[in-house]
Amino acid sequence: MIAVDYRKILIFFVLMFSILSTQAQVCGTLSDLNGTRLKRNLKESLSQFNHKDGLIDYVPIQFIIVNRNDGTGGIPEERIFESLCLTNRLFASLEIQFYINDVFIELNSTSIFSQSTNNSGFVQALYDQNKVTNAINVFVGGELASGNSAYYSGGSDVIYMDKMYINNKDVILAHELGHFFSLRHTFWGWEQTDYDINNATPTAVFIGNTSHEVEYVDRNLNCAEAADLICDTPADYIRDWGGGCNYLGGAVDPIGVLLDPDERNLMAYYSFASCDQYYFSETQKSVILSDLNSRVALRDLEPNVLNPVLETVKLTSPLQGSSVFYDDVNLTWNPVENAEFYYIELSRLPSFGVIHEVLISDVNYVNISGLLMDRTYHWRVAPFNAIDFCSFEPSDQWSFITSETTSYNVLANQGKVYVYPNPCNGDKLSVKSNAKDEIISWQILDVTGKVCLSSSFSQSALPLSQSINVSGLETGLYIFSTRTKEFSIQQKFIIQ
Ligand SMILES: [Zn+2]
Repeated sequence: MIAVDYRKILIFFVLMFSILSTQAQVCGTLSDLNGTRLKRNLKESLSQFNHKDGLIDYVPIQFIIVNRNDGTGGIPEERIFESLCLTNRLFASLEIQFYINDVFIELNSTSIFSQSTNNSGFVQALYDQNKVTNAINVFVGGELASGNSAYYSGGSDVIYMDKMYINNKDVILAHELGHFFSLRHTFWGWEQTDYDINNATPTAVFIGNTSHEVEYVDRNLNCAEAADLICDTPADYIRDWGGGCNYLGGAVDPIGVLLDPDERNLMAYYSFASCDQYYFSETQKSVILSDLNSRVALRDLEPNVLNPVLETVKLTSPLQGSSVFYDDVNLTWNPVENAEFYYIELSRLPSFGVIHEVLISDVNYVNISGLLMDRTYHWRVAPFNAIDFCSFEPSDQWSFITSETTSYNVLANQGKVYVYPNPCNGDKLSVKSNAKDEIISWQILDVTGKVCLSSSFSQSALPLSQSINVSGLETGLYIFSTRTKEFSIQQKFIIQ
């Protein structure tokens, strides 16, 4: 008699179910049912695009971080960099490099973030309103109610990604880009049909009401007319394999030949099977290059900077260990050659083990408000640009202490002399003084300490109120410095 351990069986089924559930978290793309673009790209690729020329095609990609309406839920920026680095490695052999179009658009939209139906007309309209031209648009939001991890919207020509799959190991973004460039799944036709080992393999499967010829294993039969229309990707019918990077499920084609799919192909559904690598086939690569060539809006574009960032940032203020006003902290550093953006990390811990806040700035300063009082914060800054973002080289780390009031200057300044509006639109800066004594002189300095403007007010009547023409100053952070008989005051302001 065989003793049956029901507990083990139960655990087995729970495990199997969770593995299958994970496998089901795949892509929901079903566009281009006629394959019009794919067929054109295949035809073009035969004549023109079999070879690359050693020149990189730079393709801009715009990530749109989707939050809920209340601004919560958006993906942390660093995961986007990781995912794009991985994607660029997967596209390296095509000599395609995606670069960051702009850092990053934030969109508050629960309708997109928690969409109940993939790619509904309503959601497509929102995509169309918020996408940018001249870049591939990738909306990154919450989990899809459909259970899919992502999809390509042919109607809006954008990609939607569940943020869970934007990271340094999942290859879903590369798969969706394959759809963007007109590729079908290797198992095309089987999207709505489970392969059933217990029944004879049909010669046709259905998507909706449309029947599609099943691809045979033998390359001489119908590989160019069936499924993905591509002959260097073996026949595949499987979209729920949970057994690692070697399909052993025993599926056969309609004439009984054993299926041997390419589990490493990016357009198959073995993305979670822990294969040692993933790739596009040579014909798929040609199709992608043909499609890119046909997309006038994406062609012949280049990032502003083509060189990597070689230097690290030198922090300038607030000086290491200084005390600052908790609700108005200006962090500044020296600009770095080839840097278009700066990645600023703020942490309560010197180890940066927990990051309090990440900020991205396209200028060499940032203003932070709303910090806690009487706390020490550590900060560091890493420069990057649209093509160089895979390994951040942070600056030395400095710290500051937040307090209700800070240095003598700010203490002395309270309510006495101030400039406004701040930020200033670059036209007129107004000065107001409630001080009991006369302003003797003033200067406007940039962050390096260079005097940009200076003068003396002739006015001695109090309270002083006067405008300074700042239209000659470039955008940036400045220091307004004044002197009276009793004290000197410095106030930072921004021209934008
Ligand atoms: Zn897909």
